[in-house]
Amino acid sequence: MASRKILVTGAAGFLGSHLCDALLAEGNEVVGVDNLCTGSLANLEHLKTESKFAFEQLDICTPFDLGKVDFVFNFASPASPIDYMKLGIETLMVGSAGTMNSLEVAKKYGAGYLHASTSECYGDPEVHPQVESYWGNVNPIGPRSVYDEAKRFSEAAVTAYNRYHKVNTHLVRIFNTYGPRLQANDGRVISNFMMQALRGVPLTIYGDGSQTRSFCYVSDLIAGIVKLSKSDEHLPTNIGNPVEFTMLECAKEVLALVGSKSELTFMPLPQDDPKQRKPDITKAKTLLGWEPKVPLREGLAKSLEYFKECVKAEDRV
Ligand code: UDP
Repeated sequence: MASRKILVTGAAGFLGSHLCDALLAEGNEVVGVDNLCTGSLANLEHLKTESKFAFEQLDICTPFDLGKVDFVFNFASPASPIDYMKLGIETLMVGSAGTMNSLEVAKKYGAGYLHASTSECYGDPEVHPQVESYWGNVNPIGPRSVYDEAKRFSEAAVTAYNRYHKVNTHLVRIFNTYGPRLQANDGRVISNFMMQALRGVPLTIYGDGSQTRSFCYVSDLIAGIVKLSKSDEHLPTNIGNPVEFTMLECAKEVLALVGSKSELTFMPLPQDDPKQRKPDITKAKTLLGWEPKVPLREGLAKSLEYFKECVKAEDRV
């Protein structure tokens, strides 16, 4: 495919920055924007001398126009439970006004559009594994609602721009993802366990640790998303790794990889914490010929150096 000019919102985030790397590797020109409320310029440091990359610090909740683009990837949002609960109003704003403003850019320039949606649209799911046709079980006023409902509104907005304005839209429902550049202190399970194991302090298990998640390594996820962006599919598509772990199993994987003797400590389960989560990826497999390749142990090994650096950086402060 010929080189395209691509806008990535949330470019300084964990997924946004990896997406920029993948798009640049394909030879595209990339404009990244971020208001840096949870993203970090450190994630883009390696692109400083990349002539096909430009960064603009701006908040997409205010209408913006950086000129003609061929494609928009909308990845702007606080994404870890700790961050979006702290930044509740900002999360609601970016998932509503921010999404609408970025859709306006795609509409104005006849650009393609892909929105980063989430498995949180399924809430605490009663259908397992989660298939795209499931409407979900979301508490509209619980602590997670600022994220879940903003993302569900975004799905409605993206679908409406396709339906009413014929924008060539795509919706990816992203399941738990990990890898280098995941914020070390964002409270997520992989970052917490890796940092705790490396420090030799107890791993914090919330509840009895029987709740499940399915973890996708970041390079697998980005490959699936790039494929989806080139497809003709407008309806939501799950991208994630369907291999399911209880949090106790996840802790054991981390301890084995790090070679740590950390103990486990049990803490209260947060409100509305989904009991189980596992994507049905039949659609992505058939439609895109995509499936994840990196098993959890291997992905954790690929992330180890990064988390070791995070421990060192924290120790320096
Ligand atoms: N969790 C845990 N210990 C931690 C952090 C998280 O047991 O130190 C659990 C959490 O209760 C949830 C799962 O791990 O059941 C995944 O949490 P995370 O915050 O990574 O993302 P979520 O999938 O809930 O959005």
